[in-house]
Amino acid sequence: MISSLHGSSFIGNSRSVSTEPCGYAVQPGTGAILEPRYLAATPEEVEKTMALSAAAFPIYSNQSGKNRAEFLRAIAREIEGVVEDLVERGSLETALPEARLRGETGRTVGQLRLFADLIEEGSWVDARIDRAQPDRLPIPKVDLRSMLRPLGTVAVFCASNFPLAYSVAGGDTAAALAAGCPVVVIAHESHPGMAEIVAAAVIRAANLTGMPEGVFSVLYGGGRTVGQAVVKHRVTQGVGFTGSRAGGTALMEIAANRAQPIPVYAEMSSVNPLVILPGALERGEEALADAFFGSLTLGVGQFCTNPGLVFLPAGVGGKFLERLQSLVEAGTPGMMLNAGICQAYAHSTAAVAAAEGVKTLARCSNAAGAGQGGPAAFTIGIGDFLKQPALQHEMFGPATLIVRGTLAEIEAAIPQLEGQLTASLHASDAELAAHASLVFALQNRVGRLIFNGFPTGVEVCNSMVHGGPFPASSDGRSTSVGTMAIFRFCRPVAWQSFPDAALPAELQEANPIEIRRME
Ligand code: NAP
Repeated sequence: MISSLHGSSFIGNSRSVSTEPCGYAVQPGTGAILEPRYLAATPEEVEKTMALSAAAFPIYSNQSGKNRAEFLRAIAREIEGVVEDLVERGSLETALPEARLRGETGRTVGQLRLFADLIEEGSWVDARIDRAQPDRLPIPKVDLRSMLRPLGTVAVFCASNFPLAYSVAGGDTAAALAAGCPVVVIAHESHPGMAEIVAAAVIRAANLTGMPEGVFSVLYGGGRTVGQAVVKHRVTQGVGFTGSRAGGTALMEIAANRAQPIPVYAEMSSVNPLVILPGALERGEEALADAFFGSLTLGVGQFCTNPGLVFLPAGVGGKFLERLQSLVEAGTPGMMLNAGICQAYAHSTAAVAAAEGVKTLARCSNAAGAGQGGPAAFTIGIGDFLKQPALQHEMFGPATLIVRGTLAEIEAAIPQLEGQLTASLHASDAELAAHASLVFALQNRVGRLIFNGFPTGVEVCNSMVHGGPFPASSDGRSTSVGTMAIFRFCRPVAWQSFPDAALPAELQEANPIEIRRME
């Protein structure tokens, strides 16, 4: 059973005493109100949170990688200890199936441990050593040593579609804590109870491993009020966000207009184009349609990697379309994450259906219940598609737009696409070799290129790139999944002519922690 939920923010190690209500969790579909009532952190409590975070920074950032790794592993253990509570509350708050909630818990603890391994080993800091050459002519060379250091406090906005893996102790938090940054989380109104359960687990882990108070806080009250106050606060030095394009760009603007602008790493909007060449169709059009439909409808299409755009050469692919049409028509509507997302899905699919040149290939013929969304597929000629930039916007749900044109037109259209998290090329090996310029065009628009596969199912590992040019992310030089995500929350610092004993261990002459260095 869920240990009692209080409905209040975590201001460092203490709980908010606010009496300002900010709402209840609502069960998707039924609209049932879930106790307790959540209370918004007051401006004074936001101030106290930031002061605690600022005080924690010098202590936390100077912990060894080994100690921070112990903290991350303790968080993983504490979360594993409350998995039943998370499944119980998560089933109510998000309507996600139990298997997904358990799977997402596994992903969350797995990525915490992956970051723990990275920082315990230590070489990620990119230590570089240029020794002094006092006799160099015409001028002597000074001793210079550099490495990555943490930015300072990072604000993390929870994602509606990943209540665990991209929320309180999710990827952004793991990356920031691993880097040595204190974290202030802004809870999402879709799953406040899950946020509270995870927050309590993180605080327990911090206390068990002797981390300073303020290394971690979680605030209720919403992004537009409490969240903006945190982003504007001078203590905050970076932001991690997963959500809408409107939300992400609003935060980018706020961060850019601060007296000291700070980086915002927002993962926002992507339609993840698939380009299908004739060779892939020759392998089996129906099988390709089946696999595509599986990817399209996974998680009721509520993944940032959902394949919402397909380029299919004109004159081929009849059986692919026929099969897709029957799959969509016979599809089962699924419960969406919240009423707002369900409404937005209905609006965005209606807008696409009504756009110039769009034909509806198929809509789900099974009636959607309250809060549910069913699959949909539309087609359009490439000329009409390129005339209407709004057709490149995400329909967040199980819907896709299939664009028809000649191969030359498709290749010419790729550079006109907005930035994407992924692009998938379905082709034969011979076509892959013959279309190098198409592959290059796709590479320039995305963070991850996929050959004969589908974009959903993002592996958390060292080489994953889950980012891409705007609007896929606010900064295409970064990833929000995988260990490279740590680099978002660091900056390089060089030490010139410092005595060895005063240098960080990573840069000392004897290399006491035995990391890889450039020297
Ligand atoms: P959202 O509306 O962007 O909200 C995410 C978080 O950002 C919430 O905490 C929200 O706070 C905050 N926020 C939004 N606008 C803000 C602003 N102007 N200033 C400060 N904070 C702000 O996203 P959502 O609720 O998760 O879902 C809405 C839509 O986003 C979906 O329908 C979908 O289109 C898109 N989405 C995309 C992805 C993706 O991975 N590509 C993932 C999730 C959602 P408050 O609302 O509490 O103020």
